[in-house]
Amino acid sequence: MGALECAAGVYSHLMKPLRADLHTHTTCSDGSTSPAALIDLALQRGLGGLSITDHDTVAAYAEAGPAAKRAGLPLIPGCELSAEHKGESIHILAYAFPLDHPELLEFCELHRERRVRRAEKILDKLRKLGHKLQLGDLERSDSAVVGRPHIAEALRRLGAVGSVKEAFQLYLGEGRPAYVHGQPFSVEETLALIRKIGGISVIAHPHLIRHQRILREVLEQPFDGIECYYAIMPPERERRWLEMAEQKGWLVTGGSDYHGEVKPHIQVGSSWTPEESFLKLQQHYAKHSS
Ligand code: AMP
Ligand code: ZN
Ligand code: FE
Ligand code: FE
Repeated sequence: MGALECAAGVYSHLMKPLRADLHTHTTCSDGSTSPAALIDLALQRGLGGLSITDHDTVAAYAEAGPAAKRAGLPLIPGCELSAEHKGESIHILAYAFPLDHPELLEFCELHRERRVRRAEKILDKLRKLGHKLQLGDLERSDSAVVGRPHIAEALRRLGAVGSVKEAFQLYLGEGRPAYVHGQPFSVEETLALIRKIGGISVIAHPHLIRHQRILREVLEQPFDGIECYYAIMPPERERRWLEMAEQKGWLVTGGSDYHGEVKPHIQVGSSWTPEESFLKLQQHYAKHSS
């Protein structure tokens, strides 16, 4: 190999556009990877940026922040907030806000309490269906908010189902016998909170919204961005969202929705946010956090 070719080989990664996975979960919500281990994984996968977007909590950043700094990995504050519109569950990604904002922390605390109340109701339904599970039987780290995947895993350990997927199909999915809605905040309330804390709002995985009327109404809300690249979604399904982003002037984002062993077929970095959007989020954060 000539010297030039050799140099091109060594430095080729510097010429590739940066890939930032902006949708990941840790043990602080329903993922199985710790915040520090997720930073290591992101580096191993060659990512140039990351956001941890646990459900309704930013607890991961206490560990992930220093770990990312040590590793030199750009980490953007994030959170996947549970919301609802006319009874359908809607996930909203918030980015680039101050992690210690008191109103954010208060909002997350309300979600934490709401999630415990909801889990109690789900377990109540499951007990009536013959599955003897208590809140204490759910395996999660001390700081983790509770979610349906924790209950699904407990059902699997109990032998009531063969897999987490089956637990959702038989009991926990929307419309199934142990489903509890749990009264999350509305899309409007959630967007107002994100605006108040100076964050950027992104509608998460719009293709998962089941009812077309709900989807239409939700997309009329004033989001700042839309998650166009998701997990291992085929490219032909991205086009509709990319066109919408263009038409509305929304930021285009993407991410894997990595959950570790909870969704073993999804790797960190399986989808990512384009460099241009990531740089805009970084600039927004730099401007508003100083
Ligand atoms: P929760 O926040 O408690 O409503 O739980 C939502 C989470 O459950 C999602 O983010 C996924 O991680 C997981 N989930 C939802 N539906 C399914 C499904 N059908 N199979 C496996 N996991 C699911
Ligand atoms: Zn999840
Ligand atoms: Fe989600
Ligand atoms: Fe998610």
